[in-house]
Amino acid sequence: MKKAVVLLSGGLDSTTTMALAIDRGFDVWALSVDYGQRHRFELEAAARVAQAMGAREHIVSRVELSRFGGSALTDDVAVPKSRSTDEMDAEIPVTYVPARNTVMLSLALAWAETLSAADIFLGVNAVDYSGYPDCRPEYIESFERMANLATKAGVEGSLRFRIHAPLIELTKAQIIRTGLDLGVDYSLTHTCYDPDENGISCGRCDACILRIRGFEEAGGADPLAYQE
Ligand SMILES: [Zn+2]
Repeated sequence: MKKAVVLLSGGLDSTTTMALAIDRGFDVWALSVDYGQRHRFELEAAARVAQAMGAREHIVSRVELSRFGGSALTDDVAVPKSRSTDEMDAEIPVTYVPARNTVMLSLALAWAETLSAADIFLGVNAVDYSGYPDCRPEYIESFERMANLATKAGVEGSLRFRIHAPLIELTKAQIIRTGLDLGVDYSLTHTCYDPDENGISCGRCDACILRIRGFEEAGGADPLAYQE
């Protein structure tokens, strides 16, 4: 079987991406990155998903992006709540983590070269108000070019690296529909930026709002519970 490294955060998008990789005939190695997130629930979800979906191996790699600060996901900065999609769209949000996708893709590339896996999957999305610069198609194309320039396997021609971002042009509802059709169990996933101490989602951060609306539009039931 073809080998792929899948970046798996434990969220809805990366879980759907992993299901797509498996559906396309790849044997998957799952990589999660502990970058100093404020809570542990995402990484716990990633472990559940990797196990349930049959990853050949699941590695959690630690990179201390939180040492630099600069994001509501790693710092003690308030996570925005109850925003309209216009507000989400207006600027790059404080939940942006500086250079996160570049760091994570670089780790995935290192593991892929070691495994002789030419294919790397990540669940970035450019449609639903994300506004993140490292979620755009031109960024993915540029990283793919760099990957083939930067590696022994690329230069010697033993591997031609491909960066797959199969969700990049999909809406949240389309992503959920895709996953449901592939039999994804979304009760395993975690989406909220600001859960309570038991991991229960807030229902009001940008991520929760987009997830809840996505399930409504996809015509499926969100299996997660939300705070009152
Ligand atoms: Zn939330």
